[in-house]
Amino acid sequence: MTVAEPAPPRAPVPPLAARARGVGGSPIRDILAVTARPEVINFAGGLPAPEMFDREGIAAAFRDVLAETPEQALQYATTEGEPLLRSGLADRITSFGLPTTADDLLITTGSQQALSLLATALLEPGDTVLVESPCYLAALQVFGLAGARVVAVPGDEDGVDPEALEEAVRRERPKLLYLVPTFQNPTGRTMPTPRREAVAAVAARQGLWIIEDDPYGELRYDGTRPPWIAACPGAEDRVVLLGSFSKVMAPGLRLGWLRAPAELRRACTVAKQAADVHTATLNQLAAARYLHVLDTHVARVRAVYGERRDAMLTGLPDALPEGSTWSRPEGGMFLWVRLPESYDTTALLPRVVEQDVAYVPGAPFYATAPDPRTLRLCFVTQTPEEIAEGLRRLGRGLKV
Ligand code: PMP
Repeated sequence: MTVAEPAPPRAPVPPLAARARGVGGSPIRDILAVTARPEVINFAGGLPAPEMFDREGIAAAFRDVLAETPEQALQYATTEGEPLLRSGLADRITSFGLPTTADDLLITTGSQQALSLLATALLEPGDTVLVESPCYLAALQVFGLAGARVVAVPGDEDGVDPEALEEAVRRERPKLLYLVPTFQNPTGRTMPTPRREAVAAVAARQGLWIIEDDPYGELRYDGTRPPWIAACPGAEDRVVLLGSFSKVMAPGLRLGWLRAPAELRRACTVAKQAADVHTATLNQLAAARYLHVLDTHVARVRAVYGERRDAMLTGLPDALPEGSTWSRPEGGMFLWVRLPESYDTTALLPRVVEQDVAYVPGAPFYATAPDPRTLRLCFVTQTPEEIAEGLRRLGRGLKV
């Protein structure tokens, strides 16, 4: 009989990097896990309506690319992105009032990757980043992972206040300001043109990078499109504009773009080379073809989403307790609610989910000083009838 050998000593593995230890996963993902029951009407996610995906149009684009240029589509490609897609996008961006060439653009794997690349290219640990309050959650995650100090700039329903911004820049000496000026996630609010000009002027005077993240701008249901901050005087060498195919075509394609001045764009290109070499060639070429029909598709999406926005605005007054306020977005996917004093949307959520409806509590969207009375509703994923029913359930869940 053999005697069992004593197990050799095992030393613990070294710890995670400090930046990885300090940052949690997205609280929205945790909430989505709780609300995955099919009977739940889920206003919590940020998902485009799946029935609106142009399955046939996208399938045709992929089929044509594979039939006509299979060797290019299946091959490695340059990190900057497919010239055909970049030039098509440059024309589109130019047509919206911001003169752009293919060389100004870097194709990214979703605009989320653009945020990571910019953090790599611009931020040292300890650098300060200014954000809106509340702010897009996954941007807070990126800046946290980069070891940045995140400071919220005071604002109102029109976005950050330019005077408060100027003061914050003087006091904090930040490297960059991160904004979603159009149909913001999570509030749905849009910054008016004079404020965009004022923000660009602060960046010009004080020396500041601005990341202008615009995944929702094309989803406009009424009103007129304001200029990008990137197109305002003083912005040309210091505003980075981000765009995405996620909300206008399909998020599963993971296609976004970044428009930045040459030196920063080159630094992002090197960071991208190290991250994933390049964004999927096949997806890029299919999207380049799809650009020709994108306007028609976006018009369809706008019509449907606009009705859903209206359905939510119609049902909200009866669903919410007296004294609640909410945003009335002209586009995008989200609407922001503030309940009356003493309500706490995080504490209330389990009771609301019992009614088979869900929202996202507002607290995680604040870099500092969360407002416990706030919550985010996504209005594009359900039909108007489902929205009406979801709001009736929300009303029941919120009754104290
Ligand atoms: N920025 C904002 C403000 C967003 O809401 C999103 C998507 N939720 C993204 C960036 C990332 O989009 P994607 O990576 O799919 O392009």
